[in-house]
Amino acid sequence: MNISWEELTARIQACTACPLSRSITNKVPGQGSHSARLMLIGEGPGAQEDLEGLAFVGAAGQLLTKMLAAINLTREEVFIANIVKCRPPGNRVPLPQEAETCLPFLRAQTALIRPRIIMLLGATALKTLMGEDKRITACRGKWIISKGVYIMPTFHPAALLRDPGKKRPAWEDLKLVRDKLAELESSEASTS
Ligand code: SF4
Repeated sequence: MNISWEELTARIQACTACPLSRSITNKVPGQGSHSARLMLIGEGPGAQEDLEGLAFVGAAGQLLTKMLAAINLTREEVFIANIVKCRPPGNRVPLPQEAETCLPFLRAQTALIRPRIIMLLGATALKTLMGEDKRITACRGKWIISKGVYIMPTFHPAALLRDPGKKRPAWEDLKLVRDKLAELESSEASTS
């Protein structure tokens, strides 16, 4: 898909390619900087996100905002999206077929943004993008480098709310992202 933001957003809004479109209030395409160096990818919209048409605006989203602030980033500086653009009923995990159907939209967004770092928030984002056999507990905190992009799997903020014991490792992952952003910035500055 090689298209403009306007065309891409229009296609997402009009999409009925999977059954998730039938039970939603709003599409949630994702939002943030179109030239973000850091992109965050979660699972799918929840109830609040569905109401507002915005990604990560519920309790997990508020925690994500605080986590970003802890590494001196605002939501406006990053791009926040999900694997699926429509809320799965009852907040269930998107089916693999639904995720596959929606994936071209996320891939097109990623191609337009060209982020240097992608954080995969939770098991669904990890498995959908990196393979069904991947486990978040085993992969988190370790860089995956794909086509020049640094990919950091970590826990979903909702998992941190359910299990505060995951907050410390998530903070360690976030510090790796902070340090990698600084490293990339300084190497870009020295070559320009
Ligand atoms: Fe289309 Fe994605 Fe919504 Fe399914 S989840 S209807 S593929 S926009």
